[in-house]
Amino acid sequence: MISLDGVNGARREPWRAFDVLPVCVCVTTPSGDIRYANPTLHAQLGVAAPGLVGRSLAEFDETGADGLAADDDARLESGPPTRLLRVADGPARWFAESVRALDDDADDGRDERLELRVFTDVDDQLRREIALENQAALQNTLFEVLPIPVFIKDARGQFSDCNSAFERYTGLNRNDILQKTTFAVMEPGAAKAHVVHDRRLLIEEGVSHYEEAVPVADGNLRLVNLTKVSYRDGQGNVSGIIGVVHDLTDSQPNEARLEAILEQSPIGVSVSRRDDGRIVFVNTRFSELIGLSRDSLIGSRARDYYLDDHQRERVLERLRGGGAVVNMEVQFKKADGSPFWTLFTVNQAVIQGVPVNLAWIYDYTERRNMEEALRDMASRDPLTGIYNRRSFMELARQQLARAHRFHEPLAVFVLDVDHFKRINDTYGHATGDDALRMVAGGCQAILREYDILGRLGGEEFVVVLPGATADETRVVAERVRRNLARMAIPAPDAPFHLTSSIGIAGLEGATDTLEKAIHRADLALYSAKREGRNRVVVYEPGMRASEPTGPAALTRP
Ligand code: GH3
Ligand code: MG
Ligand code: MG
Repeated sequence: MISLDGVNGARREPWRAFDVLPVCVCVTTPSGDIRYANPTLHAQLGVAAPGLVGRSLAEFDETGADGLAADDDARLESGPPTRLLRVADGPARWFAESVRALDDDADDGRDERLELRVFTDVDDQLRREIALENQAALQNTLFEVLPIPVFIKDARGQFSDCNSAFERYTGLNRNDILQKTTFAVMEPGAAKAHVVHDRRLLIEEGVSHYEEAVPVADGNLRLVNLTKVSYRDGQGNVSGIIGVVHDLTDSQPNEARLEAILEQSPIGVSVSRRDDGRIVFVNTRFSELIGLSRDSLIGSRARDYYLDDHQRERVLERLRGGGAVVNMEVQFKKADGSPFWTLFTVNQAVIQGVPVNLAWIYDYTERRNMEEALRDMASRDPLTGIYNRRSFMELARQQLARAHRFHEPLAVFVLDVDHFKRINDTYGHATGDDALRMVAGGCQAILREYDILGRLGGEEFVVVLPGATADETRVVAERVRRNLARMAIPAPDAPFHLTSSIGIAGLEGATDTLEKAIHRADLALYSAKREGRNRVVVYEPGMRASEPTGPAALTRP
């Protein structure tokens, strides 16, 4: 209790001691009627002294009008009593209020209880605290509702917080992981990769992005993109890491990812400017295919890598009209000059304002070789390796058409091994096969490069000689016959010799066909057989297919 002396008039005098205080002081009844207020309070509330005396504090009280009071009841209750007072200039301010009951002598007969009130302006502090709390609450809400999994680790690598998106994504409960390390949430191998990143980030600070596996709700590990940022405490020390998980399957491919895809592509990719043809980008596969480093490729001209100007022209032709080239078979050459086949695709595009050609080259050499081998296999007679009947007919027909077109001579001859049945019977089928292979080789050795040799079937061979007349062909056929007769065919006991008969027919007139020419050559062959075999006969009109005394008829389908 503060004791105040003096009689009625003078007894208020001691309050004058508060006049000089720089804090707001007043004396009121418990209900707030002002009996005394010092100049500081007058000034604060904007009332000329002693104008406050006789008025009520309630007139200035706006507690409850400020949204803060209602929201922050609990806070206000826990701290010192506060009151929102309307002040002279500007909006109402919060004051901490301390109240003391005054000892009343009551010798004036009045039984009035008075209170001494001291107001301290806490407005700035209070609003700062509330703002901070609001901000924290806002951030917390944001953290929670963020649909992106986020977690926080302290400097020891223990989880200190995570949001519910993280819980949903990983299937982990935050209470189960708090104060635990990465090793508690995944197997050691996977955890280690993360820990390495964390440690580096805690030392180097800043931001790191990397791809690693994290556990997901279905219990599996999934490759994700992680962004981690180090953060500092109030003293400026690095005190942990904030991590953000980007699910790769959900996210759009970013530039780095696209580049990684390009890099791992088994297809060579290049980008060249359309105006000067200079290469501005290649992937690793492209530089492997050409056999030049990326640096030497960039800035060089795409045209330098074509093997063949005709093929390049064909590509340019298609591009000229704004079109594209799709899987064209084009040969390029490596740095060492060696050619390779590609399936070549080019699209035109504009990248960052520059018109470019986007080219994809797929190395096709191996497949092409395989296809060629297959095509070759299909066109060859497996026993002798020379053309089979079908491909012989095809090639011979082309030569015949050519001969007609250029009015050039052409002749065919048909060769049949004499008494081949006996060879089979005497030496066995395998030796017969060897003999057939040697016959094919023996023919080939004499023929010119552009003569076409085929096996019609059995031990019958056929040859088309472009540019040769029947008489010229007779010379060649004679040399073939003699060559075959000279060959020693190996057999189990001792080598043997064979003979052959050949019928020749030259091209007759503009309407002659391959089939007719072969038929005439056959008739000549029958003649040769009839005349005693081991001879060459040129077809003459009037020759007939068979005679009762002749050899077994050679039939043609
Ligand atoms: P000719 O002098 O009248 O032509 O008598 P030839 O014995 O050669 O008569 P023919 O054309 O009737 O006989 C052909 C024989 O060739 C019949 C067949 O057994 C044999 N032959 C057919 N294809 C093959 C083969 O691929 N390998 C072997 N070893 N023999 C074959
Ligand atoms: Mg025969
Ligand atoms: Mg025969």
